[in-house]
Amino acid sequence: RKEEWIKLMNEKTVTSDGHHVELAANIGTPKDLDRVVHNGSEAIGLYRTEFLYMGKDQLPSEEEQYQAYKEVLEGMNGKTVVVRTLDIGGDKELPYLNLPKEMNPFLGFRAIRLCLEEQGMFRTQLRALLRASTAGNLKIMFPMIATLEEFRQAKAVLEEEKQKLVSEGVSVSDCIEVGIMVEIPSTAILADQFAKEVDFFSIGTNDLIQYTIAADRMNERVSYLYQPCNPAILRLVKMVIDAAHREGKWAGMCGEMAGDETAIPLLLGLGLDEFSMSATSILKARSQILRLSKREMEGLVEKALQMSTTSEVIEAVAEATKK
Ligand code: PEP
Ligand code: MG
Repeated sequence: RKEEWIKLMNEKTVTSDGHHVELAANIGTPKDLDRVVHNGSEAIGLYRTEFLYMGKDQLPSEEEQYQAYKEVLEGMNGKTVVVRTLDIGGDKELPYLNLPKEMNPFLGFRAIRLCLEEQGMFRTQLRALLRASTAGNLKIMFPMIATLEEFRQAKAVLEEEKQKLVSEGVSVSDCIEVGIMVEIPSTAILADQFAKEVDFFSIGTNDLIQYTIAADRMNERVSYLYQPCNPAILRLVKMVIDAAHREGKWAGMCGEMAGDETAIPLLLGLGLDEFSMSATSILKARSQILRLSKREMEGLVEKALQMSTTSEVIEAVAEATKK
């Protein structure tokens, strides 16, 4: 099987009825590039920038960040690189920020909430990204967006930094797409409004599932509730993809669900444009998608959306995809 997958390294990901989707990789540092390139990734769909900030005793400098972003953009040779701005808090702490302990860190002061408050830190990251933007095809994505005001504020800060750089004579790409992670139910529900203002969505199912089903993604005792193929999750994902498409935007997914063998047929049927996963899952996913028909998966998902339990959905997927 592995040998079969290797042959798919440079292939496009096209369904049996001719529909193309993009298979992208999630990375945490420039060191992951090697694995991305050797697993036939068509893009980077999520660069988690937290690691630049972790395991040290102070914030990374603009220069340090610039070098890392440039390395990744150059390494991808013009292919898309979606960089997520700092998503700290929740399970990821930065001791040197001295933030007070919280009762519910996953519902607390984290990610974009922290960045909009600690704007110095946020602006440094945005400047590093903007300076690196001419090295490749950069797209910027904000994490944990819960309201449109947050997106507008974050985008305004980005614009300000861009104008500053331009007036300093620094060249900045003028075609950087700016999008958001959809990982909070309020944002999925209001996706039609967001879609008018963002350039793209990337659905963060790791968090979206935990917030929707109220089941901690790290807690073994409630892991039975953590159900990617629950019809409630499928309906939210559908809302997001449909909202994007109605505005002519694209919708991707960068949570673990995007690489899940059972979820992939459903996501294909829902019209997901980009699947971003750990690099080592890409060739397997490609080999699966090449054998599926989008038309048939549309029929499957239409039924799944009307089902009442996850086990019915899983059974229907097995039935529809068995050979
Ligand atoms: C997600 O929430 O699905 C996601 C991709 O982000 P993280 O796993 O870093 O929270
Ligand atoms: Mg997340």
